[in-house]
Amino acid sequence: MGLSFQLVKAESHTFVVIVNDVSHLPAHIFAQLPGVQKVLAASARCPLAATVQSAGITFANGAHLAEGRMPLVMAGPCSVEGQDSLVDLAVQVKSAGASLLRGGAFKPRTNPYDFAGLGQAALEHLAEARRLTSLPIVSEVMSAEQVEIAEAYVDVYQIGARNMYNYELLKEVGRSNKPVLLKRALSATIKELLQAAEYILLEGNAQVILCERGIRTFETHTRNTLDLSAVAALKTMTQLPVVVDPSHGTGKRNLIRSMSRAAIACGADGLLIEVHQNPAQSISDAEQAITPGELAEIVKDTQIIHFALADRSCQPPDATTPASLQRLAVSAAHI
Ligand code: PEP
Ligand code: MN
Repeated sequence: MGLSFQLVKAESHTFVVIVNDVSHLPAHIFAQLPGVQKVLAASARCPLAATVQSAGITFANGAHLAEGRMPLVMAGPCSVEGQDSLVDLAVQVKSAGASLLRGGAFKPRTNPYDFAGLGQAALEHLAEARRLTSLPIVSEVMSAEQVEIAEAYVDVYQIGARNMYNYELLKEVGRSNKPVLLKRALSATIKELLQAAEYILLEGNAQVILCERGIRTFETHTRNTLDLSAVAALKTMTQLPVVVDPSHGTGKRNLIRSMSRAAIACGADGLLIEVHQNPAQSISDAEQAITPGELAEIVKDTQIIHFALADRSCQPPDATTPASLQRLAVSAAHI
């Protein structure tokens, strides 16, 4: 028929995305072709993000990021500062209950004079931390060259808020076979976030994780305004996993725990949190870093909220319901 198309193999189905305008052709022309299960109109503008069925993402350490499962916590320093401190922190975030280690090697900085990360050396430190703890690594890439460099070291490519609109970069990670954590840009609409995800999906990579990290509003008390309604909305629009970054979302360490709780309660599948042994001494984003001990409390909150919501028969634990209190305690001990 002279049409151009792109073949996208997702876990559940193979999609034949017709790139031309076919609005003048009746849908049954395609529906009748052998092997075609369904014809989807692309009028929503994000047909893949809206349709790809995600059974979740399983990492090498067995951690599983998926709707309805125990939310995963990804934690670590804003930027990798050195091998010893990173390894020490990795051990601590693991024992606090984190499932993945985050750490910036290439840092996008608003001010060009700020610390821009240790680059390749940081990637080597991250790989060493993974070797010692088995925690998969999440780290940001800002260009196609960095994707190539990071390939041997990272398990999840992070696309930072400032690069959500970098379509060539989105296509580049779309061609890789690693999961991509896509952060919402500072002033992106929910639809624009999904359209950015669509770029990655269209290249054949269905392992996209969406991340709400706060948007820019008139409020100045917090660094950004964490838009948890976007999490609830995304859950009605896509099956891609959604995680929340309360660190950049608030910019304030004393708000991280509350917003983590709220994120899990509104349906987030995971959290991305900045942690440091000595938060105030963090080279970057010191105001929002928390200690491994504080992280451990957040992980416990996450588990309790998850169980409480998953088990609707579970009554709020109070003195008059000792049986349910016991059940909550057993559930928490079980994990
Ligand atoms: C980060 O995760 O360290 C980061 C730079 O985040 P964002 O892109 O959301 O600002
Ligand atoms: Mn940061």
